[in-house]
Amino acid sequence: MDIYQLLHSHLGNALRRRAFKSPWTYRILRQAVAAQKKHYPWQAAHRLLLNTIDQTAAAFLQKGPVVWHNVFFPVEILYGLGAIPFAPEAAAVVATGLGIGGEALRRAESDWVSSEACSFHRLAHGCDREGYFPPPGAVVCSSHLCDTAPQSLATVAAYHEVPFYLLDVPHRQDAAALNYVARQLKSITFSLVASLSLEWEGERFQEAIVHSNAARERLLAVNRLRQQHPACIRGEEAHSFIYPMLAGFGAATSVEVYGQLAAELGRRYREQRRAVPEEKARLLWLHLRPYYPNTIFHLLEQEAGAVVVFEEMSHVYWQPLDPERPFYSLARKVLSHHGLGPMSRRIAAILSMVDAYKAGGVIHFAHWGCRQSTAGLRLLQDALREREIPFLNLEGDCVDQSKYAPGATRTRLEGFLETLL
Ligand code: SF4
Repeated sequence: MDIYQLLHSHLGNALRRRAFKSPWTYRILRQAVAAQKKHYPWQAAHRLLLNTIDQTAAAFLQKGPVVWHNVFFPVEILYGLGAIPFAPEAAAVVATGLGIGGEALRRAESDWVSSEACSFHRLAHGCDREGYFPPPGAVVCSSHLCDTAPQSLATVAAYHEVPFYLLDVPHRQDAAALNYVARQLKSITFSLVASLSLEWEGERFQEAIVHSNAARERLLAVNRLRQQHPACIRGEEAHSFIYPMLAGFGAATSVEVYGQLAAELGRRYREQRRAVPEEKARLLWLHLRPYYPNTIFHLLEQEAGAVVVFEEMSHVYWQPLDPERPFYSLARKVLSHHGLGPMSRRIAAILSMVDAYKAGGVIHFAHWGCRQSTAGLRLLQDALREREIPFLNLEGDCVDQSKYAPGATRTRLEGFLETLL
């Protein structure tokens, strides 16, 4: 039983806004999930779910200052300050699973939020205004990659009348850019300390940096195991572990989850357990996937034996952080993102993933409204064509189910599979 079925079965019609603010909700949910432990094929996924419930409970029950952030902001800072990070894009995924996406999107539309904007942020807007999200004590946002987040999160801060801090990230990666970003990170950190009346604890801040490095090491171990042939984890399963990449670096719990996943993967490889009975093709997945019920991965992996062996979102693009120079090394991490700057950086990173994971084909999920991911696709397509690697640009929406056309999607996937198999 998945988390959403569990929520519905345990809360039934009581699943209302106030249920999110009740400690009973999380107690019941935690107990129910804990009792299901042996039914989870991956114990790391079970651990991740328990951690996510705890973090969600902390945010909704306001157990500390809640700081909203976009998924590209270096959250090590928030963990280092002892704040509770809350990523509205990630929460939009949960809202989709709970079936409140339609209501939230309608609310955004009635508030004149443009339907041209990314639906993660439209949905988050609706959830926030309808009272489904915990109110922030402050909002932080990075300007790199996503052009919707800065506007969307500035609006959230204004609506809740809380401070908003924007990290302005240039497109260059030189020494001046590094210093510019590092100075801002330091200033944002101490502004949060002041505005949220936090205690500055240098040791805790360093600990977050150490946790981030440890999680990175374990994720690298996971990724190395996923390069082996044949795959022993399906892409659909592996996608569940993207959450720590978006909101978990700096937390001890992410170290635990990736460590457990690496151990389970290692064991399965030794036992020669396969992701699918016969691996007929290996695929690389770019950007995110749809989070409402759909048959895309089932068709690819279980029907056709084309396993998604890696997803771009799990790519470790940065060097280890230096606990002695936290702001400088976090700035270096931000500037290292392969999607920042000229498209040639992203293309080079994707080609290196194709080689490392021995992918015979690439699928990009073109989420509606996401310009950073879709704008340079023609150049990517040309680069892949030069290497004779089949490419599919699958248009859709990650959270707006009304945009999903199962028949047309199947036809496109089947056409693509014909070029591969
Ligand atoms: S999908 Fe694209 S536009 Fe939407 S939040 Fe993510 S990066 Fe921003």
